[in-house]
Amino acid sequence: MSNYIVLVKQVPDVTQITDNAFDPESGTLIRTRLASVINELDAQALAFTNYMRKVGGDPQSKIIALTMGPPMAEEVLRYSLSRAADTVVLLTDKALGGADTVATANPLAFAIKKIVKDILNCGNDYYIVTGMQSVDGDTAQVPPQIAEELALPCIAYVTGTEFKNNRFGFTRIISGGSQTVAAKKLPAVITVAKYEYPLFATFARTRWANKTEFIQWTSDDIKAPIIGVKGSKTSVIRVFPPGKSARKCRQVSDVKTLAKLIVDSYSSENANVGKADSSQTPRYVLPERRADRFDRSFEGTQKEQQDYEILVEKLKELGITDISRIDDADRQNILAAAGEHFHKKALDDMLNGLKLTEPSFRGEVWVVAEHSDGTIHPATFELIGKARELADSLQTKAGVAIAGYQIEPMAKELIAAGADNIYITEDKLLSVFDPTAYRKAIADCISTHWPQIVLYAATPQGRMLAPMVSYRLGCGLTADCTGLDIRDNSRNGYIGILLQTRPALGGNVMATIRTKNSKSQMATARPGVMKRLPTDNSRKGKVINHKIRLTDDDISLQILKTELGTGDVNFAADVIVSGGKGMQNRDNYERLVGAFCDSLSKKLDTQVERGASRAAVEQGFVEHVHQVGQTGTSIGPKLYFALGISGAIQHMIGVANTETIIAINSDPNAPIFKQCDYYIVGTVEDIVPNLVQELETE
Ligand SMILES: Cc1cc2nc3c(=O)[nH]c(=O)nc-3n(C[C@H](O)[C@H](O)[C@H](O)COP(=O)(O)OP(=O)(O)OC[C@H]3O[C@@H](n4cnc5c(N)ncnc54)[C@H](O)[C@@H]3O)c2cc1C
Repeated sequence: MSNYIVLVKQVPDVTQITDNAFDPESGTLIRTRLASVINELDAQALAFTNYMRKVGGDPQSKIIALTMGPPMAEEVLRYSLSRAADTVVLLTDKALGGADTVATANPLAFAIKKIVKDILNCGNDYYIVTGMQSVDGDTAQVPPQIAEELALPCIAYVTGTEFKNNRFGFTRIISGGSQTVAAKKLPAVITVAKYEYPLFATFARTRWANKTEFIQWTSDDIKAPIIGVKGSKTSVIRVFPPGKSARKCRQVSDVKTLAKLIVDSYSSENANVGKADSSQTPRYVLPERRADRFDRSFEGTQKEQQDYEILVEKLKELGITDISRIDDADRQNILAAAGEHFHKKALDDMLNGLKLTEPSFRGEVWVVAEHSDGTIHPATFELIGKARELADSLQTKAGVAIAGYQIEPMAKELIAAGADNIYITEDKLLSVFDPTAYRKAIADCISTHWPQIVLYAATPQGRMLAPMVSYRLGCGLTADCTGLDIRDNSRNGYIGILLQTRPALGGNVMATIRTKNSKSQMATARPGVMKRLPTDNSRKGKVINHKIRLTDDDISLQILKTELGTGDVNFAADVIVSGGKGMQNRDNYERLVGAFCDSLSKKLDTQVERGASRAAVEQGFVEHVHQVGQTGTSIGPKLYFALGISGAIQHMIGVANTETIIAINSDPNAPIFKQCDYYIVGTVEDIVPNLVQELETE
């Protein structure tokens, strides 16, 4: 009999965010201005678990919901009780607050151990089920970190399950398709990416849920060693509003105007309008290489930089050239001269910072390569471009760690893309990606050489592997970065550190994060954001073989079926027309996308290719090979048409390098309208035939 522990979290309702939800000074979210709700994917995970219990054939199985949060998180436990849970546990303690993902996963894992001992009587036949990620953090790191702490298999990005031959097979999202896997042993952690069959509460069950006592534990009850701000391995140094989209976001009211805009956009020399330009930021220089040793122009925030400018000016005015000789009288003089700019403690910290010249971390800058069937994932090359830039700033080498079987031929390509050293771990057991085996290989290689920075692609594979490796090595990890820069945080004693910038709260804010208490700084970076360098086959590099002992026990998952897209698609075409779930059915996709492609091709005299969202592919409208996005293909045409596509981040990642994006959607509030250049509100059935006619007659 399997039991189930479901992790649920209370989150702010980010769908209702308005500008006044943020503190204008700090840019941080004022939680009380937003309603709190259960994280939607956790609600889906609860429904998914209920389904597992049903098909698993044992109605006696228990579902235990666990949450960590403030006392008011009780509400999500009542929600769980009223739908499916039999027992609920609230882990609440001030000491647990302010935690990053490591300091969240650790106490949750210890609470799970206590549930297993106290409630499940040490049985081993259970699943831990949770949403893929929460909307406030958006990291997807906590579940794999829990799996790592408990040494359990982890199956992430699950969209369905089947109970056959007395065990569960789980269908999950992978790059280029989908895969069905089973855990080789239980317990196991499952993360749910989509389950669209919500549970509803009956009156009777709601009454029962409101009366039922829940179990409440504090930090002392679970005795987790890594908790709260102190246990965290990352710290937020700045929160700020996201920059305005570089896209035009212009609504068009009639097809005639749209047809004209299509022709004009195609013929204009419109170089990558949507791309953020990061080339403005000056390249970091280590303090010892700066012309002026008081130069602190590479601080992580503008405020810090300005404070240092004031301080250095005062030092120069007072004729102070040797920081180590500053006495109390000098301090008084500086404070008097600087007026209200900083108080005594700040001055001491800044002076200490000014003495620092040595970088806080040593070692190379690494990328963990992702590959399948002998092909390196494009995001790996983009990351090598970034690693090259960071390594040059830090006067060190760029390395690539790659694990697999018969992969040595890939080294040449990685070197040509900008890497200096390729660290290869080969073993037959690494022929296909298994999270536990790959974690072992990559973590072992990292802990042998200790690079100062390790970058992974924020693909399903990277977002699974990185949390496991970083947790195992006791290092901080920042998810899904869109900006990576070397800067100083001198006042806090950090020189030449990696500042990791990422969107948070569903893209409503940006946060800049630094790593602390770690030997290596780790981040996953969003595909399509960093730039690949031009291939240089004349580059020389070194191949370093890393040996590791793996056995069958290191393989945690059994792969039952893999479905990958096959067929010929020319995504290098100048124009791509994608259909989404809004196309309604395969016939509509064939008819409308087909006719639109033909008329565009004639009008613009170019090849036009068909694309699709993942949802359209899953609905069977078109084959997998046409999928655009994070787990499909990333494209960069001149014109991209999104027909009946909502604009989910995983889709938009794949079209970031497009020159002009045009959307047709029946929902006036479709998120894609804030991420495109031109849009028209209406159904594809109405708009597309008229647009085709317009293109043909104009
Ligand atoms: C790990 C992971 C990886 C993923 N990778 C990808 C990926 O690579 N690519 C990808 O696309 N997705 C990916 N997804 C899925 C992604 O999150 C979204 O679920 C998906 O992009 C939604 O597709 P959609 O916009 O077609 O469907 P929906 O989100 O359902 O949107 C359909 C849209 O059609 C509109 N509509 C409905 N009827 C009509 C009509 N008659 N006329 C016009 N408009 C209409 C609706 O208003 C809606 O906006 C991934 C998800 C995960 C978890």
